[in-house]
Amino acid sequence: MKSLKCLENFKPTASNVYSSEEMCRLNIAMLAERGVTVDDITALAYNAQSKYLDNLTMDEMRESVLEVLTKRDQFHAILLAINIDMAAEQGLLMEPLQSILMKDLGLFGLDECIAIGIAGNYGQIGVTNFGFMDVSKPGKINILQNDKKHCHCFLDDIVGALAAVSAIRVAQRHAVLGEIEKTEEKK
Ligand code: MG
Repeated sequence: MKSLKCLENFKPTASNVYSSEEMCRLNIAMLAERGVTVDDITALAYNAQSKYLDNLTMDEMRESVLEVLTKRDQFHAILLAINIDMAAEQGLLMEPLQSILMKDLGLFGLDECIAIGIAGNYGQIGVTNFGFMDVSKPGKINILQNDKKHCHCFLDDIVGALAAVSAIRVAQRHAVLGEIEKTEEKK
């Protein structure tokens, strides 16, 4: 199977457990080769959350995206999603799965399952946020879905989940900071 360039010479370790820095680096490189940048995910997350937080900045959201990309679950999900999408692109799957993925059959649903797995790590609100991304398909998610040259059946959902959980992390941090400020004011 044709590999991503960033993984062509990758030598797995005996344990297959990688550091946060290594996973983040690989996540960014894998996503980039499939046409998705950190800025794309940041924009999705920012647009989802900025209506609730007046003082939110793109830099803060970007920092949250980068933190999310250091996590093992995300690394495994991105790796799996891109492998399946690329196997479909190269015609390596059995029918009818090959056709289901290439046509991105709406009733398939297992692409969303992997994404919900990521979103669920950040609580039920992570799943709700992902659901909104999945239904409204903003920005990059729409572009991936309409890319006729590639199969992004799994990756579009992963990108939605990454944006959803990045937004949730920021929302939770602002909520905690807000409570601390209120306590300080009462003193
Ligand atoms: Mg999909």
